[in-house]
Amino acid sequence: MLKVDSIVFSYADKSVLKEVSFDLEKGKHLAVMGESGSGKSTLLKAIYGLLHLTSGEISWGTKRVLGPNFNLVPGEKYMKYVAQDFDLMPFTTVAENIAEHLSAFEQETHEARILELLQVIEMENYAGTKVKSLSGGQQQRVALARALAQEPELLLLDEPFSSIDQFKKNELRYKLFPYLKEKGITVINATHDPNDVLPFADEVLVLQHGETMALKPTEQLYRNPEKTYIASLFDVVNRLPLQLFTEKAPKGEFLLAYPHEVHITEENGFEVYVINTHFKGSSYLAQGLTEDGVSVFFTTEQAVKVHEKILLRVPLLLLKTRKSSS
Ligand code: ADP
Ligand code: MG
Repeated sequence: MLKVDSIVFSYADKSVLKEVSFDLEKGKHLAVMGESGSGKSTLLKAIYGLLHLTSGEISWGTKRVLGPNFNLVPGEKYMKYVAQDFDLMPFTTVAENIAEHLSAFEQETHEARILELLQVIEMENYAGTKVKSLSGGQQQRVALARALAQEPELLLLDEPFSSIDQFKKNELRYKLFPYLKEKGITVINATHDPNDVLPFADEVLVLQHGETMALKPTEQLYRNPEKTYIASLFDVVNRLPLQLFTEKAPKGEFLLAYPHEVHITEENGFEVYVINTHFKGSSYLAQGLTEDGVSVFFTTEQAVKVHEKILLRVPLLLLKTRKSSS
């Protein structure tokens, strides 16, 4: 189990991680989400032992992560960290970059292992290609393969698909994450892309300004985000005054609702004037304004027209169960 216990870290006098704590069971997948600058990369570096912490402790099972003052070579052996810069050897081939990270004692199995890893990143045909002639996305995939070469116990990924185009990204996600699960590799994935998170992460840690905003099982967090900041990591989010639904509701209370939770209705709804509509493939994302100027995004399978007036509602269950504090 990974144990991160009240870690605090600052760059000069800028406090970046403020008392971050969590436990992660072996084989689990944790996503770390948060806006840019919230401390995701710093947290991964701290776990990998690259930073000298102000206070707090990190351990993996019985092993304590000691940090740069104690380790000559940065990083702990049982972990691998795939940074945002890929740190590959540009003038050598893809296969050589991966082989460099394989154990020297198992030379005879290297070829098969390299092929297996190239299959995971879908680059079987690039074994002999020099890294410098690859695209950024391809280099990022080689960096992933290299991190997996000697199966780590804990894999730290920092925006692992950021340079990979949409087309490859999806294929790779559905290949890499199940592969890691199958191998029992514990994963921490720092990302702001909900497509990396919702289908794969067991739990999500949400950071804001270096503080823990939430730490919850993925589905639970998505379904009850509690704060606008959290919901907005997953989708466009509406902050709807409760008075839209019942005049008796106290002023200043809101319901957070994703666009797909707001439906067009014939009666018993609140009225909006449609100001925008965007084709999204399987549906439209439309935006309306209430009489009081409250903006409401909603998903609809049927096209609506700009300037049209329609009634909207949210499921009663949502009104009853969803809490929101800001
Ligand atoms: P994220 O990965 O969530 O975008 P980072 O962990 O990279 O966030 O950064 C968190 C904060 O630490 C930011 O305010 C950033 O400006 C600051 N920071 C990151 N790296 C350094 C550094 N080497 N020196 C000083 N400040 C840094
Ligand atoms: Mg980052």
